[in-house]
Amino acid sequence: MSLLIDNIGELVTHDPEFGVLLDAALVLDDGRVAWAGPRGLAPAADSSVDAAGGAVIPGFVDSHAHLVFAGDRAAEFAARMAGEPYTGGGIGTTVAATRAASDDELRATVVRLRHEALRQGTTTIEIKSGYGLTVPDEARSLRLAFEVSPETTYLGAHVVPAEYAGRADDYVALVCGAMLDEAAPYARWVDVFCERGAFDADQSRAVLQAGARAGLLPRIHANQLGPGPGVRLAVELGAASADHCTHLSTEDVDALAGSSTVATLLPGAEFSTRSPYPDARRLLDAGVTVALATDCNPGSSYTSSMPLCLALAVREMRMTPAEALWSATAGGARALRRDDVGHLGIGARADVVVLDAPSALHLAYRPGVPLVRHVLHNGVLT
Ligand SMILES: [Zn+2]
Repeated sequence: MSLLIDNIGELVTHDPEFGVLLDAALVLDDGRVAWAGPRGLAPAADSSVDAAGGAVIPGFVDSHAHLVFAGDRAAEFAARMAGEPYTGGGIGTTVAATRAASDDELRATVVRLRHEALRQGTTTIEIKSGYGLTVPDEARSLRLAFEVSPETTYLGAHVVPAEYAGRADDYVALVCGAMLDEAAPYARWVDVFCERGAFDADQSRAVLQAGARAGLLPRIHANQLGPGPGVRLAVELGAASADHCTHLSTEDVDALAGSSTVATLLPGAEFSTRSPYPDARRLLDAGVTVALATDCNPGSSYTSSMPLCLALAVREMRMTPAEALWSATAGGARALRRDDVGHLGIGARADVVVLDAPSALHLAYRPGVPLVRHVLHNGVLT
């Protein structure tokens, strides 16, 4: 079945052949982009959608989200907004609630958040485990995540759980052993929170190398709360992405610029913890590939909105609207090592967002306004 999206005011393809087309049309066929070009020249299709002069963009690629959890931490947020600093310590609250939840309760949350993101234009989403922190709870977190997305990440090394206090190396051995064995069948990626108070460089390296031996690809939570070894470890191991990148040295920036590791920035976390934003301009000017993602999680960034993150990146991180849109789509695809999403070139997956605005610039220009009119996922209107 083919589908014509007609009457497009601005078509942003992120494809070198097409670039940005005005007064355009797009044809999708069998779940793929089949044709792009001027209105009136499009080939016949089985059905059509009228974009009504609105902009059309690739679906957002959210390459960093934590959707498998129970409960929320609204009270912690209120306390933080009243002046308490964010330390990451509240993760234990969510771990306890997640362990106590049934499969059906966890599944309902994953499905609800996945659809919440889809309604806002996110057609590809990465989902991490990391609130189970036992062998069965990490395995079921990934099994439930895998039901709604192929981009699943084993984050057994999120924090050292309370029952392993003072025995972090014993916990790392579990993460690299029995827990990995049970988690790997449901995961594409392995991740670690490399930060003071979580896992140091040697522990992080051990986790990522064990994951790699099990066939998982590495990515890292790096340099979020302070300077540290995370970014350089990501580059050393050829990780697809170093995520957060808020506190970077010159050496960190140089290492990223000389690598294939994407810097994934998560401005929802700085917004929700009232922290300084990462310096996106410095990274872009150095030639680093930058992605934007939500970090959707109940503690430090409980938003599933890629448009919000894009607007924050423009307003607070000095990205241009075009750079921010690229980073929220094609950049996220790079961070997931995907070449079939994040753009609308011929053969790309038919993941398309029709905006209720004449240009994609409005995503940053009109923050907080629900501008997503239609979402097509695999060529199907959702
Ligand atoms: Zn995260």
